[in-house]
This record gives sequence, C-alpha cells and structure tokens, in this order.
Amino acid sequence: MANNKVNILLVEDNPMQTRLIQKLLAKSENPSFDVTSVETLGAALEQLERQASDLILLDLMLPDSQSLETFFRVKAQAPDIPIIVQSALDDVNLAARAVDKGAHDYLVKDRITSTSLIRSIRYSIERMRARSGEWASSMFHLAQQQFLKAAYIMDLDDNIRQRLLFPERAQIVALPFRRDQREQVETVFGYRVQHVLNMGPTKGGIRYHQGVDLGEVSALAMWMTWKCALMCLPFGGAKGGVRVDPTALSRAELQRLTRRYTSAFIGMIGPEIDIPAPDMGTDEQIMAWILDTYSQQVGYSVPAVVTGKPVVLGGSLGRKEATGRGLVYLVEEAARHLGIPLKNATAVVQGFGNVGASAARFLSECGVKIIAVGDVSTNLYNRRGLDVDSLTDYVDEHRVLKGYPEAETLETPEMLELECDILVPAALQTQITSENAGRIKCKILAEGANGPTTLEADEILSERGIFVLPDVLGNAGGVTVSYFEWVQGIQNFMWPLEEINRRLRDILTDAFARTLQRAQQNSVDMRTAAMIEGLHRVTQAKLMRGLFP
Ligand code: NAD
Repeated sequence: MANNKVNILLVEDNPMQTRLIQKLLAKSENPSFDVTSVETLGAALEQLERQASDLILLDLMLPDSQSLETFFRVKAQAPDIPIIVQSALDDVNLAARAVDKGAHDYLVKDRITSTSLIRSIRYSIERMRARSGEWASSMFHLAQQQFLKAAYIMDLDDNIRQRLLFPERAQIVALPFRRDQREQVETVFGYRVQHVLNMGPTKGGIRYHQGVDLGEVSALAMWMTWKCALMCLPFGGAKGGVRVDPTALSRAELQRLTRRYTSAFIGMIGPEIDIPAPDMGTDEQIMAWILDTYSQQVGYSVPAVVTGKPVVLGGSLGRKEATGRGLVYLVEEAARHLGIPLKNATAVVQGFGNVGASAARFLSECGVKIIAVGDVSTNLYNRRGLDVDSLTDYVDEHRVLKGYPEAETLETPEMLELECDILVPAALQTQITSENAGRIKCKILAEGANGPTTLEADEILSERGIFVLPDVLGNAGGVTVSYFEWVQGIQNFMWPLEEINRRLRDILTDAFARTLQRAQQNSVDMRTAAMIEGLHRVTQAKLMRGLFP
C-alpha cells in the first residue's frame, strides 16, 4: 500500500459487475484505490507475476476456471495477498467454503455497496497483517539496534541488557466503533506498551496512524524510557497507538474511538500508573475525551490522567508548543557550540503539525529564515524565506499546506537535501537513511520526530561532521512540560508560563551539556552519548531496586 493508495486486482468476467466495483471504489478518497481488472484466471495469474497487488477481489466462476479451483490457483500464486471472494446469492455456500480454505472475506454480488465493499477490504488487509509478526517492524529493529550499540559501548551488564531489550508490559485490543452511518461498525487495533516499570509511573503519547503496530509502539516506548531518564524525570517509557487513519474519520467518530480506547485500557492507565499524552494524529481534544472517559469511570475528575490537555481542563501553559520550543532551545545551544549565528541562518522543516509548526515559529523568532516546509500534502520552498504566521493561518483554514500560494513546490528528497544550516525532521520516522545521508547538506540536524534517522545514516552523518540533536534529546521538551503538567495536576496548582519556560530551558540545557560532555569524553556521536546518559540512570535504578522475588 503506497501513500495510502490500495492496489486492487479485480478478477471478474462480467463487465457490468466490473464497472460497478470500479464506480464504488472511485467514490473513496481515503484510502484511494487503483483497480486493475482482468476477466480470466490466466490473465490474473499473469498480472500477479508482473505486478504486486494489495488485495485480490475474485469471482470464482470464470471462463477458464470454476469454483474452488479458481481460489486455490490464485492463492498458490499469491499466498501473501488477501483475497475477497465475490459470489452470487445462490453461491454463498461456495464462498463460505473459500473462506474456510483461507480467503479473507466474501461479498454477495447483489448486495455490494460502497460501504460494505470498503469495509471488507479494510478488514481483509487487517486480517492479513495480523498474521505477519506484530514485532516485525523496522522502527523496533532500529530502537533495539541503537540500544545494543550504546549497551556495547558502555559495557552494560548482560542481565540488564536482556531485560531492557523488550517492553515489560504490552497489550493489544480490538476496538469496535460506530461509523457515522450508524449501521456500520468498524474494528481497528489499539496498543499500549510500557517499557520500564521501575522508574515511577510510565509516560508516553498516543499515536493515531495507519502504520501503527506493536513494533512501532514498542520502539516509541523504548525511546521514551531513555528520554525521561536523560531529562531526570521520574517516569519509565510508554506509548500507545491505534492503527487507523485519523484524517479519514469525522470528529464524532474520533470521539467514539477515543472513548472506546480509553475504556479498553482503563486498568492500565492512571496518574500513578501510566499517563498518556498527544503524539502524531492526536491532540488536546483527544486528551480531553480521554480525561472525561476515565473520570466518568472512576466517578470523579482526574486531570492528571493525561497531559497535553486543554488549559481550561488543567493543561499546562506552554505544553502545546513545548516540543518545538524545546527543540529550538537546543538548536540555540548547538549553534553556540558550533559558532553558527542564528540571525539569518536558514532552516528546512519537514512536518507542519504540532512539533514542526512550533519549531518553525520559534526558529523564525530567533531570526532564522525558514526556506522550506513540508507536510503530508506537499513541500513548499522560497529561498527568500516563508512567513510562518501566514503558513499557520493557511493550515488552520485548509488543514494542510497544499495550495499555499507564495512558494514553489518540490519533492521530499529534494527538500531534505537542500543546503541549509538547520534541518528539522518533524513528521515521520526513517527519513534520513544510508541512501540520502551522503547528500544531506545541513550543519545541524535537529530531530523533532522520533526515529527519523537510521543507524547506517548516523554513521554517514557523523563522518561528514553534521551535528545531530538526537530525538531522545531534541524532542524531549514535550515530555518535560508534560511532567510539569502532571506535577501541577497532582498539586492542583498552576505555574506561570515564564516559570515553565525557564524550567524547561534549564532542564534541556543541562541535558545538552551532559550529552555533549559524554560524546566528547567517550568519542561517540550525540545519539549514543544521550542514550548512554539515560541508560546509566535506568541501570542504577534497576540495580538499586533489585529483582523480585
Ligand atoms: P502531528 O500529527 O501534529 O503532525 C504531523 C505532521 O507530519 C503533519 O504536518 C503531517 O501532515 C506530517 N506528515 C504526515 N505524514 C507525512 C508524510 N508522509 N510526509 C511528510 N509529512 C507527513 O504530529 P506531531 O505531534 O507534530 O508529531 C510529529 C513527530 O514528532 C512524531 O514523530 C512524534 O512522535 C514526534 N513527537 C511529538 C511530540 C508532541 O509533543 N506532539 C513530542 C515528541 C515527539
């Protein structure tokens, strides 16, 4: 599935049925569908050999093959592609037998609607995905490799190393929620992972994205552990997620899904247990619904159950923009260390959501010229500098950057490789890889996103002398102000914004200085140094607590 486009192979000899399916699928924008249609089994097998598909819609009665034989031949050719069988009303038994033999779903031709068709496609892709390893994620592999590298360099005790390689607790739930057409119930998967349980309660955001799986959430939980320890916060790492595209849901659907998620994990979260916060695809409104659902269940209002909630519900001043603000405090430290004046320096920012937009705003307040920004819809470029306030107004109105007038557009690889002083990845993981690291031309790579750089790319950047503010340090401003919010919630006390920003700067500056010192002393890159710094604290805590029983 590339860019949320699902490639369907439609095997159907009735042209009227083919046209109907094409018409029904064309109505959907998110996901959108590319349909290749063929009329015979022979043509289907040839097409499968030529080009990969995400799903096969299969009529069992074809001119050159009939009944279950059709299914078996297609299945043998494409064992890893989900198959939905289409059957006539009087052939439902045959379709049911195909499902028995491994088809993912069946549809009765006379009853197909756009809703039932798209739901069946989603459900079949989910079923296929559930068969592949939930842990088999490139992000989890990256998090584990980074950890093992740091563990090796610091000569970490083997017992501790093995205990930290996987999360201590993880739960997966199937979440049914009602779509706006009330008769339709959709089921998606939800996750909560707690990596280390002995540093205090666990803490970590909730991500809504179509790519979420157990491995991704576990990687994010692991990074949270190092981040909290590096900042000396009294938390272990956690993370949550739902495998869903939030942009395809209405506000009412998002609310129903969020409340169901909260209720499914009600025993696993709480101010003394595990405190969620926003991450990609979630925001302060989602936190408000979690707070409300949790409070309804326990019978009184519990603001400290989440952070990143609206200020009117006990959210902290400065939390919303804390990750971007913190990143810019760190860029100031890095620029001072490298002797780069920020006035008139240039920056490129990938991602214009919570982190990217506030990083762009605070960078431009420091006098930095933002020459390019990008989001899921487009990338914008203006050598003379983009106006961040006007971009923000545009996104407030249109949700995405696409269509913004005062800029050229360019492709993502070109944008990431622009010559600039500061490059801020603040969207997705694995953006800087061994493939493009040799062409990245920034002086400071300031990681707002989690996991934007692969292990191989790290080595290339290090050889090329690019200064990296690694994610566990770079985006730690968010969890730091989340910690302030949690403390304020427990004490029922509000701190002024100046105090929050002062404390934030103090904590980040201290972590930057410790990381830099360790990098210089141990001759390692900033990421490994940051991880070793965090790992030392976690190791000490584990050894002091001992092992039960
Ligand atoms: P967000 O949902 O507010 O914004 C995400 C941005 O990324 C949007 O502009 C979106 O259009 C863009 N995007 C999505 N898919 C893209 C694609 N394929 N190509 C280019 N851009 C794409 O999310 P956020 O909270 O800003 O989180 C961004 C990153 O920062 C994530 O990696 C998250 O884990 C990390 N992070 C967030 C926080 C926080 O406080 N929100 C804290 C620490 C780390």
